[in-house]
Amino acid sequence: MARLFEIPHDCPLIGHVAFGLIDRGTNLIQIRPTSLCNLSCIFCSVDAGPNSRNRQTEYIVHLDHLIHEFRIAIREKELSRVHAYIDAAGDPITYRHLVELVQELSNIEEVETICLETHGFGLSYHLIDELEAAGLTRVNLSIDALDEDLARYISGTPAYDVKKIAEIAEYIAKSTEIDILIAPVWLPGVNDREIEKIIRFALKIGAGKRVPPLGIQKYIAHKYGRKPKGVREVSWKRFYVYLKRLEEKYKVRLILDPVRDFNIVKCKPIPLRFKLNEKTTARIIGPGWLKGQWLAVSRGRVITVIPPGRQEAPVGYEVKVKIVRNKDNIYIGVLD
Ligand code: SF4
Repeated sequence: MARLFEIPHDCPLIGHVAFGLIDRGTNLIQIRPTSLCNLSCIFCSVDAGPNSRNRQTEYIVHLDHLIHEFRIAIREKELSRVHAYIDAAGDPITYRHLVELVQELSNIEEVETICLETHGFGLSYHLIDELEAAGLTRVNLSIDALDEDLARYISGTPAYDVKKIAEIAEYIAKSTEIDILIAPVWLPGVNDREIEKIIRFALKIGAGKRVPPLGIQKYIAHKYGRKPKGVREVSWKRFYVYLKRLEEKYKVRLILDPVRDFNIVKCKPIPLRFKLNEKTTARIIGPGWLKGQWLAVSRGRVITVIPPGRQEAPVGYEVKVKIVRNKDNIYIGVLD
C-alpha cells in the first residue's frame, strides 16, 4: 500500500509527472492535483490504484498552492487565453477539493475552458451539478466497455458499475454547460466489439456538442504500466486504418486534430531550468513516487532522483544530481 504524501507549500509544482502542473508548450496546461485512483484498470499506463505494484507514494497538492502556481504559469507563458485540463497519473475525481478547484479556475480571467479527464468511478448526478455550477466545460470520460462483466474486468474493480456511469454520461450530455467526449482505450482482442457499441452510445446520447464526440485511444505498453494478458500493441498505422474504417462506417470524426478540434496551439513554453547532463545540488524533500526513487527540489523545480539501489529517501539532505531527463520540464536525475 503506497503512503500518502502532501506536497509542502514551498515545493515547486513543475517538474514531476505525478502531481502539479505540466506544460507541453501549448495553450493547454495540465493540472494534476493528486495521483490517487480507486480503479486498477488492467491496461493502466501509470500503474495506478489499489493493484499498483511499482508505486510507493501517492501525492496530493493543496488547492491554494495549485491555483497560485497555475496563475504564475499563465504569466510565464504570457497567455491571454488558456485551457485548464484537470487530469492525473491517477484519477482526479479522487481529489476531495475538485469542485473548489474548478470554481477557482473559472474565477481566473484567462481560463477559456476547464476539462476534467476521468474514468467516472465516483461520479454522481449531484457532483455533476456541482461541477456545472462551478464552471466545468467538458468531461473527457473513459468508458472501455459497455458490457458490465467485461467493463468490471477491464477496470480491475469488482464494484465498477458501467451502467451507472453510462447513465451519468447521458445526464452530462443533456447539460447545456458541460460537454462530454467519450474516450475508450481500444484493447485489441479484448474490447473490439465494445468499441463499436461505445461509438453508437456516444452518438445516441449526443456527446460532443462543441468537440468531437469520441476520442478513441490506442493501447500503448509502458515500462511501468500494466500489460493485460493477450493484448498486443498495434502499430500507429494499423490504429489509424482501424479508426478510418470506423469513421466511414459511423460517419463520425475519430482521427482528431488538436488545433482543429480543440483549439490547442503551440505557444511560449515555460523555460527549462536544467539542460541534459547538467549537474545540480538538490534537497531531498520526501519519498519518490515509484519504488527506488526520491523527491527533490532545486532551482524552483521538482526532480525525481534515482539513487543506486533501493534506499530510504534521506529527507532534508542535499545531494549532487545529474539531470538525465528534462523534456516538458519534467526532470529525472541520477546521483552524481
Ligand atoms: S487507467 Fe486511469 S482510472 Fe484506470 S487505473 Fe489507471 S489512472 Fe486509474
